[in-house]
Amino acid sequence: MARLVYVSEHPLVQHKLALLRDRDTDPKTFRLLVREITQLLFYEATRDLQLAPLTVETPLGQCAGRQIVERIGLMPILRAGLGMAEAILDMIPNAQVWHLGLYRDHQTLQPVTYYVKLPPKPNIQLALVVDPMLATGGSLIATVDILKRWGLDRIKFLGIIAAPEGVEAIHGAHPDVALHLAAVDSHLNEHKYIVPGLGDAGDRQFGTVH
Ligand code: URA
Repeated sequence: MARLVYVSEHPLVQHKLALLRDRDTDPKTFRLLVREITQLLFYEATRDLQLAPLTVETPLGQCAGRQIVERIGLMPILRAGLGMAEAILDMIPNAQVWHLGLYRDHQTLQPVTYYVKLPPKPNIQLALVVDPMLATGGSLIATVDILKRWGLDRIKFLGIIAAPEGVEAIHGAHPDVALHLAAVDSHLNEHKYIVPGLGDAGDRQFGTVH
């Protein structure tokens, strides 16, 4: 299956990404940049949303218009995905948000699921999983496993920076999941951080220090 990996070359995305990576960017600016990059990636990732015709009354008469008919669910991987979900909600306020809590065990480096808040039955047509960093791919694979078991088959991922190792892992486990990214970086270091990356996306958004 062809790789569904889309790296945005849009100048606005690339300009903002460089600012985001800068170690001197403060948390307030970092959060704003995450929002802006997310909205630009979301715009590109939703080119194939289905539309239905509708009629609009303008002040001067009737006009044929179109509206999005697919219901969209956002799955932010906690906690770093939260800022991305909020940015998308500004653009499609009726999207549903399903929270999935996963963390990486520092000993085993495996994802541990600690919170899953999904309704009993899927009532959306498109699931968008959001997480700024696609490192090993472990959290994304676990999330997609959950969503597929739940009955969803149209799933996309929106991230900012990926490691080639993560892209490879997703392609092996879930080749049908399209990846929409701003960059694919060089590699993972021994702590499974993306190099050159931007550090810890959660810490940098929320101003926490470890
Ligand atoms: N998560 C992050 O926040 N940064 C990385 O580089 C990898 C995973």
